[in-house]
Amino acid sequence: MKITNVDVFTVRVPLKGKFTTSQSSRTHQVSVVIEVSTDEGMVGLGNVDPSPKYSTETPEEIVACLNDALIPAVMHKDPRHIVLRLSDMDRVLQGHYHAKAALEMAFQDLAAKDLGIPVCQLLGGPVCERVSLIPSWIGHMSPEEGANRAAEWVEKGYRTLKIKVGAGVEEDVERIRAIRRAVGPDVHLRLDANEGYTPDEAIKAIQGFAPYHILYCEQPVPREDWDGMARVRKAVDVPIMADEGIVGPKDIVIAAEKGAADIVKVKVMKNGGIYGTGRMIWLAGSLGLKCVLGHGFTLGINSLSEIHLAAALPNVMMPIETTGMLKVVEDIITEPIQIDKGWVKVPMIPGLGATLDREKLLRFQI
Ligand SMILES: [Mg+2]
Repeated sequence: MKITNVDVFTVRVPLKGKFTTSQSSRTHQVSVVIEVSTDEGMVGLGNVDPSPKYSTETPEEIVACLNDALIPAVMHKDPRHIVLRLSDMDRVLQGHYHAKAALEMAFQDLAAKDLGIPVCQLLGGPVCERVSLIPSWIGHMSPEEGANRAAEWVEKGYRTLKIKVGAGVEEDVERIRAIRRAVGPDVHLRLDANEGYTPDEAIKAIQGFAPYHILYCEQPVPREDWDGMARVRKAVDVPIMADEGIVGPKDIVIAAEKGAADIVKVKVMKNGGIYGTGRMIWLAGSLGLKCVLGHGFTLGINSLSEIHLAAALPNVMMPIETTGMLKVVEDIITEPIQIDKGWVKVPMIPGLGATLDREKLLRFQI
């Protein structure tokens, strides 16, 4: 099998309302979608969904990397030889994990389709039939709004909520207090500061959250401040998770060596594709770190790549945080992912299980 063509599309999909973190506030998701065609008539799909300030690559940069370097490096080669194709891409371009992830996802889709098996089977076989999800996270908003939103999600059957903090210590503590009051004692609260605190602020905020029993706090301080992360972790009783700081395998080693995190956050898009993210999940486990998987703004193809990966690896904490399908008004695949009370069935059909909806793709294309 040989790659004969790669089409790259940029789409702008409306979200259900405005989503605000300490990094950005937005009403649309701009994503890159790719379609890899082969000489055997088979098609593979990939998609990445960068977030402003969170991601190290913009949609424009991803498209330029694909067209100028990565696609020429793999053209006319066999997409099923995934490790060789990753080497081809690394040879022509350092870093740029988002752009590489888009292509690698399509290669996994093609390799699995060629064998007539789902991607999770290609990864060693599923360890579960379905995966659980958090609901769409609760962004920066008033304590009352946050409490109402939290109560709505719990009413729908979700038992773990994710709340964005990093807006300011007092404001954050007020919102968490209101949410805990609204949902009662049995719902897990995961917090994510998206680099929004200094180490001293983070310690003050996490100590302020203590009466409200949070599960963990994610990326309290800027990504490069590993010593600050370690200082926060030593000062509080709550597990600390690194997200923005975790790009490649060496970052997991740094997190472990510096005692800067109990948990690491991985994403197929951020970490260079399904293969590399899977290796990072194994590495984290071997260093005694747990993993949380999932990007919050995924379109359907990227969502499916994370669902297959979560279904194949035991060191992924449930629920996963792949929640773009709960945020977008419409998706660009023909059969949107079905969520039943916070659970998604792992699709056991060949490949990732996605088909492009061309009408929607062209409607949202920019
Ligand atoms: Mg995060």
